[in-house]
Amino acid sequence: MKYIFVTGGVVSSLGKGLVAAALGTLLENRGLKVVLQKFDPYLNVDPGTMSPFQHGEVYVLADGAETDLDLGHYERFTSTDLSRRNNLTAGQVYENVIAKERRGDYLGKTVQVVPHVTDEIKSRIREVGQNQNADIVITEIGGTTGDIEGLPFLEAIRQFALEVGPDNICFIHVTLLPYIKAAGELKSKPSQQSVAKLREIGIQPHILVCRTDQPIDREMRQKLSLFCNVPIESVIEEQDVAHTIYELPLVLQRERMDSLVCKYLRLEPRPADMTAWRLFVDRVIAPKYHINVAVVGKYIEHQDAYKSIYESLTHAGAAADTRVDVHRVDAEDIEAEGAEKFLMGMDGVLVPGGFGIRGVEGKILAAKYAREMKIPYLGLCLGMQIAVVEFARNVLGLTQAHSTEFNPQTSDPVIALIEEQKQVTNKGGSMRLGNYPCLLTEGSLSRGVYGSDEIVERHRHRFEFNPDYRARMEEKGMLIAGVSREEKLVEVIEIKGHPWYVACQYHPEFLSKPNRAHPLFLGFVNAALKLAERPRI
Ligand code: GLN
Repeated sequence: MKYIFVTGGVVSSLGKGLVAAALGTLLENRGLKVVLQKFDPYLNVDPGTMSPFQHGEVYVLADGAETDLDLGHYERFTSTDLSRRNNLTAGQVYENVIAKERRGDYLGKTVQVVPHVTDEIKSRIREVGQNQNADIVITEIGGTTGDIEGLPFLEAIRQFALEVGPDNICFIHVTLLPYIKAAGELKSKPSQQSVAKLREIGIQPHILVCRTDQPIDREMRQKLSLFCNVPIESVIEEQDVAHTIYELPLVLQRERMDSLVCKYLRLEPRPADMTAWRLFVDRVIAPKYHINVAVVGKYIEHQDAYKSIYESLTHAGAAADTRVDVHRVDAEDIEAEGAEKFLMGMDGVLVPGGFGIRGVEGKILAAKYAREMKIPYLGLCLGMQIAVVEFARNVLGLTQAHSTEFNPQTSDPVIALIEEQKQVTNKGGSMRLGNYPCLLTEGSLSRGVYGSDEIVERHRHRFEFNPDYRARMEEKGMLIAGVSREEKLVEVIEIKGHPWYVACQYHPEFLSKPNRAHPLFLGFVNAALKLAERPRI
């Protein structure tokens, strides 16, 4: 088995996850079985308890693991199977080590960062590769080189490299070359220093990936090569992509990064065939049509909070030869100024998931506007719950209707906790999480776009459609388009007579891929195109 480690230097948010994922795309297209995993040095056991304002979206896996959003990139860029084993946090490492200490597994020894914490980390690297029968395991180390909390992870991979030998390891360091305007030049010093930090720990990167917004000339490459101690051909230029992140594998291929990695790992696979990928990228860059979609949320100003949703819209747009212009609307602005100001002229309205009462009334107004004005609507998780509240209030006339998440005393709890969730007191990992099968109703829009009567989708929620209100809602024109196979919980609703009003309790955005747009997103984009009457760009 071969191992690639991706570290980052100088600043955070360099896109290490994307580099790891894009390299995964190239290696997979060379016929290799690739597995990706992420190590996060923070002490949370998982990011499930972190606010999206802090850490961006929580990405949910099939097995219900709540993980870092980089795992979303891994799933979108490769066919790697991910489970809770593929995202290790320092919190989990210490939780395991302390549990072993309490059980007496260390036989009276003093428990220490080296070797006990580092052993725990190393065992995960091996386990992930073996379980998934990989040719190559790519491990991304979160954080920035030089962070105190990252040290045990770097020490662990240093030891690991020694154990598996030089032919089986490739260290990739992603760094930043800042451009200083006044001097008119790119600067290499921060990269030199972050590589020096790595070497201090005992890690010499094989490949340097340089994020830059200017081309790197030969002289700069020579300088980086000399001071960072990497061969000149191993200095990879990663210029900011012009249009879409999906260009990145093509950029890295142009820089021959996949060949280099294979050379270091003593592998000789066939060249990567990127034809299908390139076609997808071309459709993202130059589509024929154009639509405007409003995403009405609460974490709107945060780039990463709805990452998978934005990506899913890009995939569906490419499949429909359409550029989807996303208008990010803050639900609180709708509360203050009304829906019309922000939603008039939109070809689609999407209300994503969320927690907490802030902005909920604004989302309800958005759902009402889309329903009444017959604008295609896609509600995801909380976006379904608020659609149900809106329908209860404005169609059934239950003016006090609410979710008990926001008003525990409401006289009409149309969204409420099921018994199972009432017992839960711990916040971490205790929602209805991961894959559950759902049965779709014959004749529904959803059944039509999925082309199947049973689907499996990922979940992350506590509250449910209250079945006591089901018959009344159906009488007034709501269609229950999907129920969970086992518990018969309402999972998909539609509104009869509306061109496209579909809302689901699950998260379809976690299953969309570049060349496999998700049926609900594609259905939504097609409905929006119809409303926009296919305007050409
Ligand atoms: N807050 C809602 C619940 O817990 C919705 C969750 C979500 O949108 N992910 O049920």
